Amino acid sequence: MVPIVRFKLYDRIQLKKPHPCGGSVFQILRVGSEVRIVCQTCGRDMTMNRIKLEKAVKQILPAENAQEENKKGTEQTNE
Ligand SMILES: [Zn+2]
Repeated sequence: MVPIVRFKLYDRIQLKKPHPCGGSVFQILRVGSEVRIVCQTCGRDMTMNRIKLEKAVKQILPAENAQEENKKGTEQTNE
């Protein structure tokens, strides 16, 4: 069986080809035959054919929970 790339709403994806702004991470805003994604670096959104997008995806990043784990420990200032 071929693995199917399934996009879920608000998933964050990394594309093989970065956006002109330099960022390569996008968040999914709408899923359908066309997928609307927004660049996490510059905030611009665009609509892409889903088939095309599936081929352009490098990886799907973990959901927002993981983002919290990644929080930089800036709050830990014990001095
Ligand atoms: Zn961008």
